[in-house]
Amino acid sequence: MRLKLTNRFAFYIGGILLAGILSLIAYDIHSNSVLLRDIGRNEASLFLNTVSEELFVSMRSGSGRAGNLAVIERFKKLSGVEDLRIIHGASLDKQFGIEEGEIPVDAMDRKALEGVPAFGLEYRDGHRAARLVMPVTMKEDCTGCHISRPGQVNGALSVSLSLGKYEGVIAGHTRKFIYWGGGILAITSIAALVLVRRRLLDPMDKLKEAALAIAGGDLSWRVRLRTGDEIEDLGRAFDEMAESLSEATERLEYLSERHLKLVQSAADAIVLKDIGTKMIVDANPAASVLTGYSVDELANTPSERLYPPGRQEEYREVFKRWVHDGKGYLHGGAIVKKDGFEVPIEIAASVLTLDGRPMMQEIWRDLSERKGFEDTIRRHVVELQETVKERTLELNNSLKELGEAYRKLKESEQKLIEAAKLVSLGEMGAGIAHELNSPIAGILSITEALIKRTPDDNPNHHLLMKVREAAVRSKYIIMDMLTYARPSKGAFAPMYLNETVKATLGLFASELNVGAITIVADYEPGLPEVFGNQGQMMQVLLNIIKNARDAVGPGGTIFISTRSVQDREGVFSVVEIRDTGPGIKEDIRDRIFDPFFTTKEKGGGLNIGLGLPIAKSIVNGHGGRIEAFNHEGGGAVFRIRFPAHKEGLTVP
Ligand code: ADP
Repeated sequence: MRLKLTNRFAFYIGGILLAGILSLIAYDIHSNSVLLRDIGRNEASLFLNTVSEELFVSMRSGSGRAGNLAVIERFKKLSGVEDLRIIHGASLDKQFGIEEGEIPVDAMDRKALEGVPAFGLEYRDGHRAARLVMPVTMKEDCTGCHISRPGQVNGALSVSLSLGKYEGVIAGHTRKFIYWGGGILAITSIAALVLVRRRLLDPMDKLKEAALAIAGGDLSWRVRLRTGDEIEDLGRAFDEMAESLSEATERLEYLSERHLKLVQSAADAIVLKDIGTKMIVDANPAASVLTGYSVDELANTPSERLYPPGRQEEYREVFKRWVHDGKGYLHGGAIVKKDGFEVPIEIAASVLTLDGRPMMQEIWRDLSERKGFEDTIRRHVVELQETVKERTLELNNSLKELGEAYRKLKESEQKLIEAAKLVSLGEMGAGIAHELNSPIAGILSITEALIKRTPDDNPNHHLLMKVREAAVRSKYIIMDMLTYARPSKGAFAPMYLNETVKATLGLFASELNVGAITIVADYEPGLPEVFGNQGQMMQVLLNIIKNARDAVGPGGTIFISTRSVQDREGVFSVVEIRDTGPGIKEDIRDRIFDPFFTTKEKGGGLNIGLGLPIAKSIVNGHGGRIEAFNHEGGGAVFRIRFPAHKEGLTVP
């Protein structure tokens, strides 16, 4: 039951005082009753002793039964005596007979006749009376008249004395006690209440008021109680508590504001999800900007609504793992915005507890810009790669060109060296040949003359023949040397390579037939015209075909083909002579165009190592190029190319 503390205290104090006063009244009634009983007993005892004395005197005087009755009647008339009786015992009955009024009437009478005094209070006509029944014992003096023995109970005296006057006195006292008690009760109660009110309830009201004010947010409220007792201590403790609360609240407000700003002003989206319901319960403004939903809308959105449709299961699994691990990350995530578009994000999640409920805090970082940057960077990288590729290609081409230029330079250098070498050799050879030409011619003509004069059977004839042979050979060698040194400056004219090849083969056909060598010719029709000296070109072909013949030996095959070629340098007519011989040995490949380099027996033939140098010299003189290599199927290949003739151009 709710009661105001003042009323409650009034009730308690009143109750306690009432209980006290009632107890005192009860005690008063009890002690009055005991007092009344004691007074009654004493009064009755004194009275009966007096009556007994008077009866004894009366009986000694011998006035008999009548005297006794007179004594009784006299005492009966005394004020306050309500009843007085003589009760006969058995011996008196026997001796004097019993009359009405002397018969024992109750237990008290009978008890007294047994020798035990009986006392009790009785209510009579609105007041109490003390009744005493006292046994009367035989004395020595009485043996003269009574038959009983001394000490034997003869009878008893019963008296009822009114206690009304004592009751009045006691009732007066009790009334006074009640009046005083009630007054004291009322005054004490009021005083106690006033004290409780001032010392306890007022301070408590102040405390209550302060507590309500603080609860209402006014943390500056202080009670400042000055009661000089424990209440003051309580007030001081309360004020200290309020002070601490105020400081803690200030600190809390500061922290709360700081955290709020931290979350509210975060560039990344922050959302709070209830792990149980999987609903988003809170979000910061960045989350609203990212998703297109307002913060209020987000706060009531099932988190799965933001999952991309195709990734629901994956997200659920990831979410479960985060709940289990207490935190986690998701790279390459995405969310669906309110407008249905997907935004690439990465997520950092952590589990926390709010109001006893497990929550998941997720920080979403928008990657669209970064993705844009990445795409741009990727595009730039691709462009850069393309540019690098192009530049590399250009560089490679440049390098190729550079290589080509270098090769040409080297070739030119080599040519220059060779030319210088050939020039010096040619000049030397030409000089020697020129010097030898006349003596050899002389030797030959003299030898011819001597042979004519010497008969065949003359032993000198054979010697002269040998001399002539040597002289002829020397003459050819000199001619070769002169050709190499100073190729004949025949006229240059447009001509067809196929015709030149055919003419050369025609010249050499019989010799090849002798050696049972097969010629396989393949001419490309419509070769471009070349500009040159037919005689020199035939010599080139002749020298190479001769070498092929030497290489293949009897039964071999020589393949001759012509074709046109077009490259960066221009258009060319090409003739290729391939044989089925052993090919050019690797170790001499670089030297075969050197003058006087030969691997052949020099004995009886004209193999002095000038065939290829002469050929090269002539080809170069036509602006062409000769190269030698081995065919993959075996055999040597000599490829010669001459530039196609251009009107108005002449070979230097
Ligand atoms: P010679 O024929 O007098 O030796 P060349 O200048 O014509 O001089 O040839 C030089 C060398 O080149 C030859 O000795 C030979 O070793 C080599 N040679 C030329 N043609 C061929 C060929 N078809 N097969 C193999 N070697 C060849």
